[in-house]
Amino acid sequence: MALVVQKFGGTSVANCNRIKRVADRVIRRKKQGDDVVVVLSAMAGQTNYLISLALEMQSQPDRRELDVLLATGEQVTISLFSMAVKARGFDAESFLGYQIPIETDTAHTRARIRNIPTDRLKRAIEQGKIPVVAGFQGVDNLGDITTLGRGGSDTTAVAVAVALDADVCEIYTDVDGVYTTDPNICPAARKIDRISYEEMLEMASLGAKVLEIRSVEFAMRYNMPLHVRSSFTENPGTMVVKEDESMEDVLVSAVTYSKDEARITVKKVPDKPGIAASLFNPISEANIVVDMIIQNTREGNLTDMTFTVPKGDYEQAMEIVKRTADEIGAESVAGDRGISKVSIVGVGMRNHAGVASKMFDILARHGVNILMISTSEIKVSCIIDEKFTELAVRALHEGFGLDKTDS
Ligand code: ADP
Ligand code: ASP
Ligand code: MG
Repeated sequence: MALVVQKFGGTSVANCNRIKRVADRVIRRKKQGDDVVVVLSAMAGQTNYLISLALEMQSQPDRRELDVLLATGEQVTISLFSMAVKARGFDAESFLGYQIPIETDTAHTRARIRNIPTDRLKRAIEQGKIPVVAGFQGVDNLGDITTLGRGGSDTTAVAVAVALDADVCEIYTDVDGVYTTDPNICPAARKIDRISYEEMLEMASLGAKVLEIRSVEFAMRYNMPLHVRSSFTENPGTMVVKEDESMEDVLVSAVTYSKDEARITVKKVPDKPGIAASLFNPISEANIVVDMIIQNTREGNLTDMTFTVPKGDYEQAMEIVKRTADEIGAESVAGDRGISKVSIVGVGMRNHAGVASKMFDILARHGVNILMISTSEIKVSCIIDEKFTELAVRALHEGFGLDKTDS
């Protein structure tokens, strides 16, 4: 008998019929003799809808109040699901974040889980019930409701699985598993059977939203196997597990993209010690994450600094940078929101030279200009004009032999 945590995403619980189907599925597993703990998202589109309501009230909604609002999405699905289970003659018990409690820090809208006591969940399991946990939400030490950031139900699921020492955490979604690239923009994408935590972590960080980044971090740290699979079919999905030797045979495992990028250039900054610190300290104090940075030296002891920030933080970052630019005597500040980042990921890159240059060749052949580059041991990323994103993803997918017909 295994202990399984099953998480169902927004599309899997998008309406009453789907919730009933999920209940049937969970009960089937229970009947096979496994203990199941369920984690649910809000109905598809619901979190976006709630955000749109908040924006009608305040242009930058108060984060504490926003969390109170957003947490209602998951409250609806866990209660409806538990009713569906009971209607089928089985027993379920729903839990909001504060009832378990899922203890987090106080960083509203992007809280981190600190601890999950398991007493209530274990008691429910012992009583033969199916515990049903609201994803995405927690409670801080003041007793205030927090949320974990978009896609955060994945993190709830993995954290609950780790706390309960479950055998596996199954993430049910609207695709068959983790693909070599987003199947919704590249029809030639292939499902990956097994992928390492490290590669999955890079993919998640570089835009593959099929798993939320922190959920993969958690799984990797505690060696919790993840099974990403479809809630609409019985097909086996993708196992996210520890790296093994066979994984290194594949040079590039996946292509990812992110349109959530914006670029800022500070022109003609006096080139002297401390300039980078004066420029980037105020940005990091505002909790804005700077990704790529390029410094170009000009004549006359001047330099240009170009860097990227998440699109959502662009306006705030521009305001801060303009202020600092004046202070440090820069000539001007320019910005561009129309960019994206395409990346190739693979543990096989560690032992092979020439992967980056092949990527540059492929992009060049398709007429895609590269604006910025960054590399690490297992990935290469290029910033390009946003309008070429899909073209670049498909070209790289084909160029690195990932298309379906190659298998
Ligand atoms: P859920 O609501 O179940 O959490 P998400 O929308 O968060 O689902 O994640 C699933 C989506 O992730 C897919 O519909 C797909 O468009 C997208 N996606 C992006 N990259 C990949 C990838 N490499 N493999 C699979 N899906 C991907
Ligand atoms: N409902 C939340 C969101 O849409 C959390 C999740 O679905 O994972 O981001
Ligand atoms: Mg998701």
